[in-house]
Amino acid sequence: MINSTNSENKRSQKLNIVILGGGTAGWMTANLMAEKWKHHNISITLIESPSIGVIGVGEGSTPQLKTFFDKIGVTEKQWMPQCNATYKNGILFKSWSTRPGFESYFHPFTSLIDAHTAPAFVYNTQYRRKGFDVDCKPDRFFLSAQLAKQQKSPVAEFNFPFDIGYGYHFDAVLLGKYLGTVATEKGVEHISAQVTAVNLNDDGNIQSLSLDDERVIEGDLFVDCSGFNSVLLQKKLKVPFISFKENLFNDSAVTISVPRKSQQQVNSQTISTAMKCGWVWDIPLTNRTGNGYVYSSEYCSAEQAEFELREKLSLIGEDIEVRHLTMKVGRVEKHWHKNCVAIGLSQGFIEPLEATALHFVQESIEGFIDNYTEGGFTSSYQNNFNEKMNNRFDGIRDYIVAHYRLSSRDDTEYWRKNSENPNISNNLKKIVQCWVAGDDLNKALVQPGMVSFYPPVSWHAILAGYGVFPELTAKNILTEKFGLSAIDAAQKYDLAHIDQFIQRCSVNFADHQQFIDENLINI
Ligand SMILES: Cc1cc2nc3c(=O)[nH]c(=O)nc-3n(C[C@H](O)[C@H](O)[C@H](O)COP(=O)(O)OP(=O)(O)OC[C@H]3O[C@@H](n4cnc5c(N)ncnc54)[C@H](O)[C@@H]3O)c2cc1C
Repeated sequence: MINSTNSENKRSQKLNIVILGGGTAGWMTANLMAEKWKHHNISITLIESPSIGVIGVGEGSTPQLKTFFDKIGVTEKQWMPQCNATYKNGILFKSWSTRPGFESYFHPFTSLIDAHTAPAFVYNTQYRRKGFDVDCKPDRFFLSAQLAKQQKSPVAEFNFPFDIGYGYHFDAVLLGKYLGTVATEKGVEHISAQVTAVNLNDDGNIQSLSLDDERVIEGDLFVDCSGFNSVLLQKKLKVPFISFKENLFNDSAVTISVPRKSQQQVNSQTISTAMKCGWVWDIPLTNRTGNGYVYSSEYCSAEQAEFELREKLSLIGEDIEVRHLTMKVGRVEKHWHKNCVAIGLSQGFIEPLEATALHFVQESIEGFIDNYTEGGFTSSYQNNFNEKMNNRFDGIRDYIVAHYRLSSRDDTEYWRKNSENPNISNNLKKIVQCWVAGDDLNKALVQPGMVSFYPPVSWHAILAGYGVFPELTAKNILTEKFGLSAIDAAQKYDLAHIDQFIQRCSVNFADHQQFIDENLINI
């Protein structure tokens, strides 16, 4: 390990980085490090077991993934066809709320163009929270919601002067493989072997990894990307794991992929449908649709979950591959400890409802690279990094918890227990209290001590999308309470104008299927 006292001395020497794990996290780390440190005297070796598989089910991303590919110099035309990838405008949530008129809503990816419409959305939510009869379903105010509805690609035609934020859907196994080829071209050494022992030096840092082919690989810095196993950080260095099971009940998933029928249109959104004991994702790829039921094993057996998923997909009795998985939900106490940093499932995992895992992987690697470089390749900024990662993790958890805690479903024990779960963070309590009191949520979210991974617009989208509003109040009572001018003020925005603006913008985007065929497949 290079520590602060000998960093200057060591910087001129070669720094050996060893990454354990060849899942998406391992290969994303290898690519970003190789790219970022290409002018440094650094070698990167990635060790991957040929017999321990990758988790390989992460199929959706946030817009962050685009910046990852931009940074490593890979274009959509290069990677998307290799991974059967499609575009994603956001997530449609179905059946999460039972409040009339709010049975579904869209969580959009936002962009600059929304500056024309999002203020009206936020403004209207403020009035609706006071009982005024104004429309504030998020779907109506965001271009990405309209593009998803029309099954359009989010890539604008050249003459449209705005870029739109979008994510992707992809085959996670193919993505890992593709990133492996890119990283090895960048000079990353790939070793296919299993780690059988982790060897520490006298000060408790990792010195080397013993492999099942008798080799011993030494390193200065070790990156634990070994998935839920966390062979280095949790198993060897004994960094404690903080479970989120009191906050988030889901701990299992069952997945089924269905081949795409010819002529079947490809959605440009993920669909997340609430079920009896969890929810099902529907993710369209170019060749198939990925489906997975994420559920709580405390409320539902694996057989019941598989049956419910098959029933939803009309696949009862069909001979089709089904995969059952368990999830370890929570995070480590410290992501970087001694000379080891954990990235990916080894640092923690929050169920995939908002498809944030790879986003977090990227943020962790970039945060680590910045802190490590800034600290002269020492552990000077270890505490800063750990604190930031923990806050970000907890911020994601709060947003995911909100989906369950705010749901009005009460059809099963699972939903009843979720909606009365007392284990919610103070931050989440403050957010909901602010919303219910009709106060300014934008302001509340930037108060000292308040940390949230999600931007204010996402909080507005879930709270408004779920219909967390009081009953409408009669006009005369509103006039009495807020004055006559408030009735006019509530109607400040002309929604017909907003509809027209979004419609006209959407004309500049091609049909999703057609765009993929013309730009990504037939090239
Ligand atoms: C049900 C589910 C759905 C998900 N959906 C999404 C989603 O939509 N979007 C998203 O961003 N993320 C999603 N994720 C998360 C995503 O799949 C992971 O974050 C991502 O794949 C990274 O995994 P990983 O590389 O950390 O671990 P893994 O894929 O598990 O890779 C671990 C690697 O470590 C190696 N290894 C382990 N032990 C040893 C050893 N002793 N010696 C040598 N090698 C070893 C293995 O061979 C493997 O290469 C989902 C996860 C689950 C469980």
